[in-house]
Amino acid sequence: MTIQEKRNERLGAKMVKAMQHRHFDAYYCATAREAKAKVNELIPDGSSVTWGGTMTIRDMGIPQMLRERETLEVWDRDAVETAEEKQEIYLRAFTADFYLSSANAISEDGVIVNIDGNGNRVAAITWGPKHVIFVVGMNKVAQDMEAALKRARSTASPINAARFDIQTPCQLDGQCHNCNSPQSICNYIHFLRNNNKQGRIIVILVGENLGY
Ligand code: SF4
Repeated sequence: MTIQEKRNERLGAKMVKAMQHRHFDAYYCATAREAKAKVNELIPDGSSVTWGGTMTIRDMGIPQMLRERETLEVWDRDAVETAEEKQEIYLRAFTADFYLSSANAISEDGVIVNIDGNGNRVAAITWGPKHVIFVVGMNKVAQDMEAALKRARSTASPINAARFDIQTPCQLDGQCHNCNSPQSICNYIHFLRNNNKQGRIIVILVGENLGY
């Protein structure tokens, strides 16, 4: 085990306890492979499942894994083309048994930060789906809530803006300019700090770099 892996495991164990204190179900997996198996195990046959915009979930091959399970009802936002079809899936997501997401940042004491342009992801995280599973690489961990917000705004958002190739000031120099552009992907800033429906919020921390 490398020093980095050891550090992730120790911090991950501490964070699992911090998240349990917030009434989240929490797990630490050393590898993306283990985390993928955990997601599969947590979703029972017969469930409906969908996901928000997330590179982590896609890079791990989770949509493909779910599509191959014929017992699941998969509402695949990536398999539709028109804006109307996407909107239909965004709305159905509120009734899903499982909603999958990553996070733009997470504090060492377990507060999850996400920033959205459309708001469909943070809306579904807040209310609707019976369960929300977050899969979060340890590269998203920041020391405290303020640092997590800073990471989400100054690292994740400019990279996501570049990913979508939208015309925002951060495209020019990679820095957030706190813009009010109509194209801004930073319209909704969401903190998940506690859970009042036991078993709804599930977090899988992964001891690898995943997403941005
Ligand atoms: S410049 Fe605008 S779009 Fe880019 S990260 Fe900052 S607020 Fe978001």
